[in-house]
Amino acid sequence: MNIEKYDEIRASLPAGVRLVAVSKFKPAEDIAALYQHGQRVFGENHAQEMKAKHEVLPQDIEWHFIGHLQTNKIKYIAPYVAMIHSIDSFPLLKEVNKYAVKNGRTIPCLLQFHIADEETKFGFTLEECEDMLQSAEFQELKNVEIDGVMGMATFTDDQAQVRREFHHLRRIFEELKTRYFSQNPDFKELSMGMTEDYPIAISEGSTLIRIGSAIFGPRNYSV
Ligand SMILES: *Cc1c(COP(=O)(O)O)cnc(C)c1O
Repeated sequence: MNIEKYDEIRASLPAGVRLVAVSKFKPAEDIAALYQHGQRVFGENHAQEMKAKHEVLPQDIEWHFIGHLQTNKIKYIAPYVAMIHSIDSFPLLKEVNKYAVKNGRTIPCLLQFHIADEETKFGFTLEECEDMLQSAEFQELKNVEIDGVMGMATFTDDQAQVRREFHHLRRIFEELKTRYFSQNPDFKELSMGMTEDYPIAISEGSTLIRIGSAIFGPRNYSV
C-alpha cells in the first residue's frame, strides 16, 4: 500500500470532491490500515467480497458498490451498502428498491451511463434512462434515492478523448438535473475518475473519484 500517494491524492482534492478507496481484491488488513489512517469510504465490485469485509471491519465504514450488480446478489449488500454507483438498468433499480423495502431502509443509488468507446462497459443510454425516469413505475419506487450519475471513460492514452467522455457525462448530469431532479437536492453526485484519469475527471466536475491501484498497488486477479 502507498500511504504517501494516498496522502498526496487527498491533499490535492478540491473541496466537494470525495475519494472512494477501491479495495476490491485487497485483503481486509489493507482496508483496516487505511481506516486507521482516516479513510472511511471504500469501494468494492463483488457483492460477496463486500459482505465478507463488512462483517470483519469497523461498522462506520461507508461501503460503496461500484461493479456490475446481478439481481441475485443484491441481498448480500442491501442491509448496509452506503451507495450503489452502478445502477445500469430499470429492472436492477426495481430489485434494489425491493430489497431496500425488505430491510426497512432507503438505498442511495447512482445511474451508470455508457460513455466509453468500448462494448464491454455497462450502463444506460440517455434515451433508456429518460424512458425510465418518465415512467409511472419509477415514481412508485420509494426506497431508492437517486443521487446522481456514474461513468467510466475509455481505457486509452488519448487524454482528449477521456476529457470528451467525462464532459459528456457532465452534460448528461446537468440535463437530468434540469429535467427531472431540479427540486431534489440529493441529485448532486458525479462519480467519475480512476487512477489513470482522475485529474481530468475532477477538472470536468467529478464529485466522487474511485481510486484503487494508486493507493493499494496493482491487483492480482488470479488470487
Ligand atoms: C476497479 C475500479 C476502479 C478503480 O480502478 P483503479 O484504476 O485501480 O483506480 C474504479 N471504478 C470502477 C468501476 C472499478 O471497477
